[in-house]
Amino acid sequence: MARGVASAIRANQRPVPLTFAGAQGAYLRDIDGNDYVDYALAYGPMLLGHSAQPVIEAAARQLSTGIAYGASHPLESELAEAICRTVPCAELCVFSNSGSEAVHAAIRIARAATGRQRVIKFLGHFHGWLDPLAVGYPGSWDASPATAGQDPLASASVTVLPWNDLDALRAALTDDVAAVIMEPAPVNGGCFAAAPGYLAGVRELTQQTGTVLIFDEVITGYRVALGGAQQRLGVVPDLAVLGKALGSGFPISAVCGRAGVMDVASDVVSHLGTFNANPICAAAALASITELERRADEIYPQLDHVGAQLAEIFRVEAVEAGFPLVVNQLGAAAYAFCASRDIDSYADTVYADPDAYRIFAEALLSDGVHVIPRGLIYISTMHGTAELSATRSAVGRAAAAAAESLRTAAPAAESVRV
Ligand code: PMP
Repeated sequence: MARGVASAIRANQRPVPLTFAGAQGAYLRDIDGNDYVDYALAYGPMLLGHSAQPVIEAAARQLSTGIAYGASHPLESELAEAICRTVPCAELCVFSNSGSEAVHAAIRIARAATGRQRVIKFLGHFHGWLDPLAVGYPGSWDASPATAGQDPLASASVTVLPWNDLDALRAALTDDVAAVIMEPAPVNGGCFAAAPGYLAGVRELTQQTGTVLIFDEVITGYRVALGGAQQRLGVVPDLAVLGKALGSGFPISAVCGRAGVMDVASDVVSHLGTFNANPICAAAALASITELERRADEIYPQLDHVGAQLAEIFRVEAVEAGFPLVVNQLGAAAYAFCASRDIDSYADTVYADPDAYRIFAEALLSDGVHVIPRGLIYISTMHGTAELSATRSAVGRAAAAAAESLRTAAPAAESVRV
């Protein structure tokens, strides 16, 4: 395998990417038999924990019924209904396989619905790996291509703006802008909060200019509330992109939104895919939503509570051990920085030390706690008191070890970009 990993970001794990043999609930087991409390959760999808029973049962039932038809089947419309019932902006949906693909479809729908070309995205927001939006990635400070091999012309009509700055958006929102796309709670860049009134202001400006507002809820969808960030934060976009937790680990994604915009998807926009709404993935997604919906009153307050407790454990234990750590958290998603001051915006990330955090993540890993080395932290419905208490002691020890190794450190190995 080129680079030895199947997704470039996995090469960031220190000292080397681990190889896993299995996963259950809040735990992963590597091929040497070591168990880890898992706060990476496959980069987000495993909101119900690994191997959630209702999801496995639904997928297994479908596995023995039919794997792929390349045609319509009843589960896909049931799934579309479930999405329209749970996500505030959703009146119609289309399905894809990954978040990147669905973002691509959303942009195409927005361009077709408005007859305009330009797209505005925000610095430090991530919308997948495809060329047009692979600019202004987390970790970058301009609109240059994120990777070698990228076509710079593909993003020629994309403007990258600072987030949380209504004046900058107002100035850029000319009448040729098809879409404004954002992570409504930008988890990838650092799990930041919008300034009071900012999201409502974006909604108003995009409405005034006839621009399609797209919320990329690939992370926040079903994770920060049943109806995603749009429900939690009370601002409804025209379109939303769902992925990750939608399928509990099965590859399925969706674009959903207002009928007036989505209509072009049933009319003039070509949206294709051999595996779209694959029956097994659709069964898994339907089972996931059904479970989340059924237990919403219990699940979401619990995720908020456990998420807040975990953030506090990281902060307190690390700082007590002499390792400066700040944590931004929104329900079941969080981002930790090695920093001696609050990191409240993407601009503030210059005050954080990502190499030091990677050293801490490596120390955590050898103490049985698995986190994403660049700072993201996810919890599932299976994380509870036992996991938190194991994490508390591991964080203290890992923070002390990281602080010690920083005092004596050689320069850190270069990291792989997102
Ligand atoms: N949008 C956001 C907000 C994401 O976090 C990601 C993946 N991390 C994507 C899009 C792309 O999703 P995928 O990896 O499934 O293509």
